[in-house]
Amino acid sequence: MTYVDLHCHSTASDGTTPPRELIRLAKQVELSAIALTDHDTIAGIAEAADEAKQLGIDFLPGIEISCEYPRPGTLHMLGYGVDPTNTTLATMTDTLIAGRNERNEKMVAKLREQGVPITIELVRAAAKGDVIGRPHFARAMVDLGAVKDYAQAFSIYLGSGGSAYVDKEQLSPRRAIEMIHAAGGLAAIAHPTQLRKENSAQLRQEIKTLADYGLDAIEVIHSDHRESVVEELSDLADDFGLLKTGGSDFHGGAKPHIKLGRANDGRRIPRKYYDALLERLSRSVKPR
Ligand code: AMP
Ligand code: FE
Ligand code: FE
Ligand code: ZN
Repeated sequence: MTYVDLHCHSTASDGTTPPRELIRLAKQVELSAIALTDHDTIAGIAEAADEAKQLGIDFLPGIEISCEYPRPGTLHMLGYGVDPTNTTLATMTDTLIAGRNERNEKMVAKLREQGVPITIELVRAAAKGDVIGRPHFARAMVDLGAVKDYAQAFSIYLGSGGSAYVDKEQLSPRRAIEMIHAAGGLAAIAHPTQLRKENSAQLRQEIKTLADYGLDAIEVIHSDHRESVVEELSDLADDFGLLKTGGSDFHGGAKPHIKLGRANDGRRIPRKYYDALLERLSRSVKPR
């Protein structure tokens, strides 16, 4: 049995590992396939794909889109096998990044009102790519000495209940699924525990709604999912005829406790999840 990782971030969004290095790391930890799923961008795909080809690792282009969802939950939609040359996808990522930039300006203002001497330039300098998010704020705030670490930056200021938090313009989950399909990809709901449903019945209802919109898969293995959650989500996937996916949600030094290719308790992600996605992609007419 070989193993894969279908949820990873690079410096193109809020990870700290450049796309090429991410693939080298995948080789080191003996993964046979990997998907790059940066937030709101495909800017890292070309480099990662090139390195994967050179090192003989199977590569799946991906994306992770933050969707509208009531607080304190979050809903992230993964897109697998999206065509990086698709113009609809490019327009969508441009819009999402513009929404982030607007939000980021507001967060800088809020932090400054609270005595944190941050500037948009400092936040931008903490990022390598165009997608600038809260982890870059956290990095800049640690560097300024305004907080002692990432955790404190999120608990006081940046978390969804934090004093500097501002919502960004987001797609509805339905629209995200449609956009992913329009770009030739498959849509998978990321880390469903972060929906923060109160019970299994509510979780089932949400998955049903998404399945009716055309959801293709559920991320059953993730760094936030203990054994019982993996089982519950796998059962839900089977009940609704959805595929299963899994990944670490690797962010490099931005989330140092997460290792590439390893989810909760060191659990690995079976190759069969990747094969099933590829099989489904090969049967769908592109663009859908
Ligand atoms: P954004 O997309 O700009 O709203 O930022 C969300 C990202 O911040 C997530 O994808 C995580 O990578 C990171 N994040 C969220 N909460 C925390 C936390 N408590 N500690 C560290 N990173 C976090
Ligand atoms: Fe992230
Ligand atoms: Fe996520
Ligand atoms: Zn992620």
